[in-house]
Amino acid sequence: MSGRNTSPANRVLVLNSGSSSVKYQLLDMADRSRLAVGLVERIGEESSRLVHTPADGERRERRAPMGDHGAALTAVAAELAADGMGLDSPRLAAIGHRVVHGGKRFTAPTVIDEEVLAEIERLVPVAPLHNPANLTGIRTARALNPELPQVAVFDTAFHTTMPEHASRYAIDVETADAHRVRRYGFHGTSHAYVSRETARLLGRDPAETNVIVLHLGNGASASAVRGGECADTSMGLTPLEGLVMGTRSGDIDPAVVFHLSRVAGMSTDEVDELLNKRSGLVGLCGDNDMREIVRRRDEGDARAKLAFDIYVHRLRKYIGAYTAVLGRVDAVAFTAGVGENSAPVRQAAIEGLEGLGLGLDTELNSERCDRARLVSPQYARVAVAVVPTDEELEIAAQTYALVRS
Ligand code: AMP
Repeated sequence: MSGRNTSPANRVLVLNSGSSSVKYQLLDMADRSRLAVGLVERIGEESSRLVHTPADGERRERRAPMGDHGAALTAVAAELAADGMGLDSPRLAAIGHRVVHGGKRFTAPTVIDEEVLAEIERLVPVAPLHNPANLTGIRTARALNPELPQVAVFDTAFHTTMPEHASRYAIDVETADAHRVRRYGFHGTSHAYVSRETARLLGRDPAETNVIVLHLGNGASASAVRGGECADTSMGLTPLEGLVMGTRSGDIDPAVVFHLSRVAGMSTDEVDELLNKRSGLVGLCGDNDMREIVRRRDEGDARAKLAFDIYVHRLRKYIGAYTAVLGRVDAVAFTAGVGENSAPVRQAAIEGLEGLGLGLDTELNSERCDRARLVSPQYARVAVAVVPTDEELEIAAQTYALVRS
């Protein structure tokens, strides 16, 4: 792969293609450093914008209409090439693509070929918002350099170890199987990375460590990880199930959907939009930024207080449930935007759970720090950790390991 060039091909470009955006990072796997990070926003609009930041240079911003993902990725490739790191560089080992839904079939990162593309396409009905954008990103990247290995890293893959009693809904088996209705789980790359890093922080072998991971971003999910494998997770067929999120309701009686349809005359699409976009923290108090909610709550705003309390109540229910699922818990790990940054959420989630072996050192918990750290007192039976997630590094590491093998 490195051709006549003596430098090893040890760089991986990670692409995360959304419906109107592409996020990317170029990583050097020799030392896991970032060589460039960037983002294209508002693809398909007049106001498209590319922001590119090389590790050893100035941040560059380009504003020009980019009609589709092809135009966006061509612009990204040009920025990388301008820094001597183009897609034709012999140092580039592969492109790693984040793919949201891999169904039951994709249990590990997979080198992309036509057959894999067709299978990702077949999964579109269960991931209508995400898989089409991921596919567009892959097809465009392949067209830009057909020789370069491209790897799909699936958000669902880590959860494929869930036993059937956790992944199957209690509905008619034939109907469920005919339409692929089961619990898949998402954020898997983050849960995998954070559970492993938590074991490392404890100085333990991940294969012998049980961790409850709380990925609390705008989307939020919990997972019960036993010895490095997922035993249960809170998201289901789609990312709607589970915790209260920025704009999603999380767990809800499914009869609410029939009720709103019959009594309020809402269409399926309207209920879908209500539960995915106008619920959760936004639906409860009008804000989905936890900083703002805590600030409002502290000023006596009743709706912000209720939103915070509902969010935390659900979180505590999952901590309790996953303690029961795992039997023995070594650590609870907080990650993503809220988990890494909100001391009040961590405190409210853990407070009073001494019966489960949990405790918090309030001083450690309120310290700001970008590194993985413990925030529980030494005597606590179950450690509480704050572990910054790094999905791009995990995608790059999985991609690199696969193309090298
Ligand atoms: P993510 O999806 O992981 O990028 O997380 C985004 C969310 O993290 C935002 O919607 C905020 O609610 C939350 N967040 C980010 N920074 C902070 C902070 N310093 N304190 C509390 N919440 C934060």
